[in-house]
Amino acid sequence: MRANDFGTVAFRVPMAAPSALVLKCEACGEEGPHRVLRGKVAGTDEIVFEGVVKCSACGAVRAVTTREPRPIRVPLILSWMDRSVRQTIEMSPDEVVVVSEEIPLADGRAIVTAIESKGKRVQQAKARVVEAIWAKRADKVWVALSVNMGNRTVARKVLAAPDEEFVVGDIVDLGRERVLVHRIRVGHRTLREGSATAEEIVRVYGRVVRERTSR
Ligand SMILES: [Zn+2]
Repeated sequence: MRANDFGTVAFRVPMAAPSALVLKCEACGEEGPHRVLRGKVAGTDEIVFEGVVKCSACGAVRAVTTREPRPIRVPLILSWMDRSVRQTIEMSPDEVVVVSEEIPLADGRAIVTAIESKGKRVQQAKARVVEAIWAKRADKVWVALSVNMGNRTVARKVLAAPDEEFVVGDIVDLGRERVLVHRIRVGHRTLREGSATAEEIVRVYGRVVRERTSR
């Protein structure tokens, strides 16, 4: 195995035993949650669980030992709209990272845009040899709106999927208010007709509309 940056693998982080594990039951053959009746977690480069579990499908109780590689933290440069944030992501060392595929985040998901391994850009690599991952948030983006309320203009924002279309002349539902879109600012241009995706929109300009009936 690869020596880590500390030159030793002798440090230990105490961990709590999980409350349940997904396992294949030896009695009924079902793969599913097993409640942990008692157990402990130990290990340095591997997380070793030793304990007694109960199958949620048939109720069989047995002693198990499971092992999985201890997760590592990989540097992640995450961009969202026009900002980039440097952080780390926890991964299993054998997990393969691939450009243009998704990686799960604690609060959503992202698409990998570049990988650096051994000082070079690569298309894919195992997490253990990855020096940095660049990724772009793929879940939701905020779209800013300027809404004319009759005698004043207020700022609003709405969460949308990056590829969600906003169309001049359409109505955007903000919950309490509905807004008729007049213009859409995209980059240095202002659209007075047509549409743009949430990802490319700088600001939507519109006017609040009254609903004739409430549903
Ligand atoms: Zn079972």
